[in-house]
Amino acid sequence: MILGMTKIYKFQDDISSDVLKELETHKSLAIDTEGSGLQIPHRDKLSLVQFSTGNNDAYIIQPNRKNYKAPNIVKILENNNITKIGHYLRYDVSGLEYFLKCNMQNIFDTKIASKLCRTYTQNHGLKDLVFEFCGKKLDKKLGSSDWNKNLDELTEAQLQYCSNDVIYLHKIKDALHKMLIRENRLELYENSLKFLKTRIKLDQSGFMEDIFQH
Ligand code: MN
Repeated sequence: MILGMTKIYKFQDDISSDVLKELETHKSLAIDTEGSGLQIPHRDKLSLVQFSTGNNDAYIIQPNRKNYKAPNIVKILENNNITKIGHYLRYDVSGLEYFLKCNMQNIFDTKIASKLCRTYTQNHGLKDLVFEFCGKKLDKKLGSSDWNKNLDELTEAQLQYCSNDVIYLHKIKDALHKMLIRENRLELYENSLKFLKTRIKLDQSGFMEDIFQH
């Protein structure tokens, strides 16, 4: 279906092998997830996975919440040749690795990048980046909504919302990458990202605080 200018493709359980082949032709894919709440994985569960190729499209997948079997999604997540671009991946990688039982490779986190190169602001939300780099005003109202409805019961507003969370990320990543180089912080960014999986293990083990803090 087409919403606004965005082409939206919906899938139950997993992407098809044709779509897998198409997505595998891209060097980078934007990714986002929606869950039943923020306390992933112990209270809340993964509800939706969204991808975008950066060409105003969104692939929205509702995994099977009984067995979370999605081998084609896992192939993309584990593919070291495809950069997965996400905003605040501390949440998404945690849910994806826990529920889909995979080991994500090659990720770019626009929130961590933003914190390291946009020191002129305190605002590092996705809507702040979309406004600065894409000139669009994102409506984040529907972020907290029921993503566990059947795929065909999700409203157009919900589909538009969860598409908006992926369609701008390529552009944002390119801008932030240039800024990281300009500010001489690319290495610091890359080293910070190496710690992300450990940070997620700490979260999942109940260490929510900053363990480096005095
Ligand atoms: Mn989202």
